Amino acid sequence: MSGQFRADGSLRHLLTLEDLPRPLIERLLERAERFVRPLGARPPASRVLEGCTVANLFTEPSTRTRVSFELAAKRLGADVVNLEVQLSSRVKGESMLDTVYTLQSLHVDAMVIRDAEIGVPATVAAHVADHVSILSAGEAHVDHPTQGLLDALTVRQHKSRFDTLSIAIIGDLRHSRVARSAWHVFRALGVSDLRIVAPPALMPPAGEFEGCSRHTRLESGLPQADVVMMLRIQKERMAQVELPDADRYYASYGLTPERLALARPDAIVMHPQPMNRGVEIASAVADGPRSVIRDQVRNGVAVRMAVLAEVLAWRSAA
Ligand code: ASP
Repeated sequence: MSGQFRADGSLRHLLTLEDLPRPLIERLLERAERFVRPLGARPPASRVLEGCTVANLFTEPSTRTRVSFELAAKRLGADVVNLEVQLSSRVKGESMLDTVYTLQSLHVDAMVIRDAEIGVPATVAAHVADHVSILSAGEAHVDHPTQGLLDALTVRQHKSRFDTLSIAIIGDLRHSRVARSAWHVFRALGVSDLRIVAPPALMPPAGEFEGCSRHTRLESGLPQADVVMMLRIQKERMAQVELPDADRYYASYGLTPERLALARPDAIVMHPQPMNRGVEIASAVADGPRSVIRDQVRNGVAVRMAVLAEVLAWRSAA
């Protein structure tokens, strides 16, 4: 067990989607849906987290996740602090836990943590005071739970079902935390046909991604897919010698309009971003009519609002 639940069964931390029960996932998605507004409309504003403080503690680069956690907390009325890790004491040798204890002394109620090392969010969660919640914003190649939820919300909005869907996750599966969280959430939601597609060198080890069919060619993994999820090559998690040649990769695995024609005519295309146009995806697809990539970004704020409201619900009730 991940230790993310309180004794009364409520969600205290969000470290992984692995053991989240389907009813809780569905409740989070429904709550998030209520925070979604059309572009151009005023974003939702609430004061349920007034008096709470959320700290963003990112030691790996992030654009969308950091900004959307900040906006999510602010749109619920919380105060937000963003720790600039290059400027923080961590570079002076202060351990992550000392930084966390400092934030705890400053009355931070929830810490949002991104780190390249496996186990950091769980270690912090095991050491903080009982009233503090830890939310993973991306842990090594292992998990990115709020990304998994925003991906599920995006699929739900466009397909209105999960059980009869065919979902193809394509690219650097071996090093992708996005893919692992997607696998957890889609499995929990009952997706019947989950496919992973990667060159042999980027395929996850045997034993991982249980229940997914494995394909080393797009031409075998893409046909009749309802959802096509593209992934970036995680250069930062590979040695230079392991890096595939970008042109050769695009020639075999790049999602072009011609290849997308193998999927269902109403298939949607997703990508967690940042995108490498001309490597894993053609611009004509990324910006094309089947792309829901910008919806994913919008849904990210809504999902993070739902998660913050869930773990800090006891605060608003107190
Ligand atoms: N932004 C996502 C992540 O943090 C995807 C990526 O970086 O490729 O994992």
